[in-house]
Amino acid sequence: MGRSFQVVILGGGTAAGYAALEFVKNDYNHGDLCIISEESVAPYERPALSKGFLLPEGAARLPSFHTCVGTGNERQLTKWYKDHGIELILDTRVVAADVKGHTLRTSSQETIAFRTLIIATGARVLRLEEFGITGSVAPNICYLRSVQDANKLVEAMAACKSIGGSAVVIGGGYIGMECAAALIGNRIPVTMVFPESHIMARLFTPEIAAFYEQYYEKRGVTFKKGTVMSGFERNDQGKVEAVVLKDGSRLPADLVVVGVGIRPNVSLFEGQLTLEKGGIKVNGKMQTSNSSVYAVGDVVSFPLRMYGEMRKLEHVDHARKSAAHAVQAILCPEKIEDYNYMPYFYSRVFTLSWQFFGDNVGSCIHYGVQSSGKFGAYWINKGKLVGAFLEGGSKDEYAALARVARDRPEVPDVNLLEDQGLGFAMAH
Ligand code: FAD
Ligand code: NDP
Repeated sequence: MGRSFQVVILGGGTAAGYAALEFVKNDYNHGDLCIISEESVAPYERPALSKGFLLPEGAARLPSFHTCVGTGNERQLTKWYKDHGIELILDTRVVAADVKGHTLRTSSQETIAFRTLIIATGARVLRLEEFGITGSVAPNICYLRSVQDANKLVEAMAACKSIGGSAVVIGGGYIGMECAAALIGNRIPVTMVFPESHIMARLFTPEIAAFYEQYYEKRGVTFKKGTVMSGFERNDQGKVEAVVLKDGSRLPADLVVVGVGIRPNVSLFEGQLTLEKGGIKVNGKMQTSNSSVYAVGDVVSFPLRMYGEMRKLEHVDHARKSAAHAVQAILCPEKIEDYNYMPYFYSRVFTLSWQFFGDNVGSCIHYGVQSSGKFGAYWINKGKLVGAFLEGGSKDEYAALARVARDRPEVPDVNLLEDQGLGFAMAH
């Protein structure tokens, strides 16, 4: 038998870092808490990997973006965990979990016992093989989830740049958009390939997408929409030289970046905990179907109280807040209310920056002049404003958007809302 802890956090990503901070803020006993992570570094702010990390100059590197600097809190280096009596077990994969027996088995064959477990295993990237495409392992094919992946991408970008090469980005979602911008920033021309008719199809309307697509095109991005890739062409050394599309056309590529979605890391708990929508099902206290086990961040399906339904959200704000919420539920179960989260997403590309609050369901009205660099949209569902998007806003303006999306006011006159635009949220 190995070590034993009151609380074990399984996973050492963003949510784990914020959970640790919450325990420390609440003077949790030294020696009672352990974090097990397969990564070789302390928890960090994962969003940096597709932004500051990929800058051509002055790029962000660890230790600068360890949690919880993303919210203006302390930078938690390995020493911080030691100083606060938290056992940080790195480079260690948990290979088996026995929920009823309250134990985890690690890749080093240690059995670690817990009284309470917080699952913070996040998600893994979807690989092209899962779409029936073989051979996505190559020095110049990059996925992006961990700092290890980001290091590989930086190396591959340097190699590509040194030969004046070009890149193909597979996927038109968050990774696709942010990596394409980073590649252009590094003077690498990019072609983006995705199945939808416009970028960020799950969130953006065609009108919103048109602005970003034009902006990208002006900077050297070519779009191949409504199609998917079918394979790679490689040279004798196994390096990819071209991406072949379903229509038979061929895109020369010295570097390929793949961002085709993720899947929550639930496999250790299949058959032991209830799953829903592919994630581990939790209640408003982030508690799973076993009351000693909590789950937070990308891995959970949780009740989104505002909309009365279960959701999976793969964004950092939810990772941070759900982690803090679970810790409060563990420490003060009698005081804690149910998690009442409002979806919040954002992205920064080039010098652009947008934020979205709420839900993108129902009809959508657009306001502002795109060419001015400041424009937005509201979503109206069943007569109520439910979602708000803004590019190029100020702190106060985004705060107003958050307010209005949470309050969900009635919209008696859609035309008036369109005329008022941002003014509607500011006056609310
Ligand atoms: P993760 O941060 O993924 O952490 C999971 C951890 O668990 C990892 O350390 C993993 O190695 C570990 N783990 C998993 N299984 C095991 C195991 N069996 N044993 C041991 N350890 C294990 N969101 C935004 O809102 N805005 C952004 O701008 C943004 N940018 C992003 C950029 C990139 C490149 C990526 C990849 C994501 C981005 N996100 C962004 C999403 C955000 O980072 C995630 O929502 C957040 O990291 C989720 O936190 P988590 O702790 O649940 O999961
Ligand atoms: P997304 O789900 O955002 O986007 C994946 C995209 O790839 C979708 O447009 C999807 O289309 C498309 N796609 C699916 N299959 C194929 C295929 N065979 N060929 C080409 N395109 C395909 O995932 P990402 O990989 O971009 O991001 C991974 C995670 O990282 C997400 O959880 C995201 O939230 C997070 N992230 C968040 C950021 C942010 O919030 N700013 C920044 C970076 C990452 P379809 O919709 O039709 O499936």
